[in-house]
Amino acid sequence: MQIPYKPTFLPKAIKKFRYIIIHDFTCQFGSLDKARVDQKTKVTTQGTRVYNWLFKNEFELPYHFICEQLQGDYETILARPFCYFCEYDDIPEQYLPSIHIAIAGNYNFINIKQRAYQQLAYRSISSILRWFQFGSPQVLLHREISTNKDLKCPGDGFKKDKMLSAIKQYSLMKK
Ligand SMILES: [Zn+2]
Repeated sequence: MQIPYKPTFLPKAIKKFRYIIIHDFTCQFGSLDKARVDQKTKVTTQGTRVYNWLFKNEFELPYHFICEQLQGDYETILARPFCYFCEYDDIPEQYLPSIHIAIAGNYNFINIKQRAYQQLAYRSISSILRWFQFGSPQVLLHREISTNKDLKCPGDGFKKDKMLSAIKQYSLMKK
C-alpha cells in the first residue's frame, strides 16, 4: 500500500537539531502485533506506516530513522525526512529540535542484540553528532524526558550503556 506524501501537513524543522531521542515501537505502536519482536511476527516499517495512516490518519511516521532487523542483519531506514520535526504530546518543547530514531520492535521483555546498537551508532547517531556538533550527553531515551513517568520507551531491554559504548566505538570525532 502506498501512502500519499503530504509534506505540507508536517511541521517544518526551523531550528538546528540539538538532541537525538531514541524509541522502540512501544510508545506509538505498543498494541500492534507487527510491532512485537519474536520468531513468528515480522516487524516491518511498512506495516507500521500503513497502520499509522489507516488508524491514526498520519501521513508520516513519528521517527526520522528506523533501525530494523531484515533477513539476519539490521538496516537503517529513513522514515520522516529530517527537514520536518516530530511532535510528541509528552515531550517538552525544548526537545522539539530533535532527531527521533526508533529501533523497530517492542523491547519490554527481550534484550536488543549488540549488532543493533552498532547499527544505530554507525549508520545514524555518529553522523548526526558530527554534522550537528553535539555530543553523546544529548542522546536521550524517550523515557528519560517524557512527562509521562510511567512510559517505558524504549523498553527495559534497551540498555543505554551499551548504546553509549557503541557510539564511542563508531564516533567520527576521533582522529
Ligand atoms: Zn517513544
